[in-house]
Amino acid sequence: MSDIIQLLPDSIANQIAAGEVIQRPASVVKELLENAIDAGSTEIHLILRDAGKTLIQVTDNGIGMSDMDARMCFERHATSKIRSANDLFHIKTMGFRGEALASIASISRVELKTIQSGNTIGTRILISGSKIEKQEPEQVNHGTSIAVKNLFFNVPARRKFLKSDPVEMRHILDEFTRIALANPEIFFTCHHNEKEIFHLPKGNLRQRIVSLFGKKINELLIPVKEETEIVNFEGFVGKPDYSKRSRGEQFMFVNNRFIKSPYLQHAIRKAFEDLIPEDNHPFYVIFMTIDPERIDVNVHPTKQEIKFQDERLIYNYLKVATRHALGQYSLSPILDFEQEGAIRHMKTGDIPSGPKKEKVGDQWRSLYEGLEEEAKKIDKSTSSPQRSEDLFQDGKQEGEQESERSDGERDLFQMSGKYIVSPIKSGILVVDQDAAIERIWYEFFMESLERGDALVQQALFPKTFECNPADIAIMGEIMPVLNKLGFDVQEFGHGTYIIHGVPASFDGLGLDEETVVLETVVAFREDKDEKDLHRKVAGALARGSKRKGPRKLSKDEMRALVDQLFGCESPYATPGGKRCFITIEMGELQRRF
Ligand code: ADP
Ligand code: MG
Repeated sequence: MSDIIQLLPDSIANQIAAGEVIQRPASVVKELLENAIDAGSTEIHLILRDAGKTLIQVTDNGIGMSDMDARMCFERHATSKIRSANDLFHIKTMGFRGEALASIASISRVELKTIQSGNTIGTRILISGSKIEKQEPEQVNHGTSIAVKNLFFNVPARRKFLKSDPVEMRHILDEFTRIALANPEIFFTCHHNEKEIFHLPKGNLRQRIVSLFGKKINELLIPVKEETEIVNFEGFVGKPDYSKRSRGEQFMFVNNRFIKSPYLQHAIRKAFEDLIPEDNHPFYVIFMTIDPERIDVNVHPTKQEIKFQDERLIYNYLKVATRHALGQYSLSPILDFEQEGAIRHMKTGDIPSGPKKEKVGDQWRSLYEGLEEEAKKIDKSTSSPQRSEDLFQDGKQEGEQESERSDGERDLFQMSGKYIVSPIKSGILVVDQDAAIERIWYEFFMESLERGDALVQQALFPKTFECNPADIAIMGEIMPVLNKLGFDVQEFGHGTYIIHGVPASFDGLGLDEETVVLETVVAFREDKDEKDLHRKVAGALARGSKRKGPRKLSKDEMRALVDQLFGCESPYATPGGKRCFITIEMGELQRRF
């Protein structure tokens, strides 16, 4: 047989590499911005059309390229940033693999204009699907401009795989935000479909955070600064009170490169342990500086994962650095937060007052049927001096209890402001309050969407609120659904929104409407699994409508909550899969004794 192995043509090899480096428009944005930074630019402009699907253009004022380099940069493994394998351990630039431009040019049409500093005339290159179509002299003022058009035009499968514009836009803005945070000394702008969505003048890190996340954040920042023999930390954490709204706004950089590290994230979370409720996440922007010899950034093509030689040590240092910062700035009011929070949360009233369903309570009453007889049987068979009911008397008159029991209801008890406990026929029922509320609201919103008859209650005083620039895309996506649900929210311009009205049933929530909407945005961003927009918004809204932390409920509220939970179509779990209740069977109890 003859030989059958051949080398792949460059254009195909590049496309294969592109599969790893370029997953979506956001990947192109990241690579182009990083190149502009590596070129020493002080001013970078990002221009997008149709969430980058039609156009991604990055213009910089960096060192530019010679005519020859302008051609070379599209070759695979062509880089000016490293020369030998040894350089891999001293990387100071963002790029070094020399595959981004080759990959991008293999799956799009690229126009490059560049001029090397000192030259009077620049060069322009058109390249499409790895083929250079034109190279000519061009009048260029300074730096480099790269326009990437029709991404994936020759990879239809990839193009089809792209998500809606708002989703792709969100990915782009995530990348943009990370890079803008890491380079506050660079002036950035970002335009989408001719509209300027970011204008970030150069400044210090604090100023950059404020121009990205809004003025309000300024007073919530606690500086972190710590130097140890192997690693230095610098940046900010958000005050514990800010943790609620800021989930997802967590940025960790190592030698100015954004990284994802659940392990190190945990270190910061740990430092906040007693200061914020369990399901909250603190805001942080932390820069770690470490000798490049102690890390390996070359473990993944997108370079977001990193290996540390002394991971455990760094974990501990980071935790201590965060603790230290919190200790210095929080002092007494924040150290009392747990207690204060608990009291603040002790208001009741977040049990939905949505329309009662006919079948309410049926399912759950059946759990109690026959309980009385069971109790009597047990009474006779044990020599216990007390009847079980007496043990749980709760200061009520005998008569009252009897009448309550006659309609099949039993006592309900609350534990730690979090769980509702009740004896049932087969054992014990334990309901997770928060999960139950989420399920109830979710079904309520879903029904409201299906019926399409939500009533708006117009507000006397419309409320305005600001949204993080990065969340504007999400607001665009969810607003039509919110409107359908009776939230009369409108964009006021430039990340500011105004709420004119809320669903008529909203009164019972006990939360500000703007908090609910902002929490909904956060919940929506975090829900990566749900594809159906209605279900996703209803789910996010249900999560956004919960007051967090323990709260005391009256007996009536407990009863209403349990009734409504078991009136749900699917009372077993939240849309996200968290259980709403468990039962402990009699047999299980007996085994334990
Ligand atoms: P890498 O960044 O890993 O070196 P790229 O494919 O992203 O690989 O870029 C290849 C080369 O093209 C870079 O090493 C650099 O020399 C040059 N280059 C790319 N973008 C720019 C730019 N905006 N300004 C100046 N040179 C650039
Ligand atoms: Mg690069």
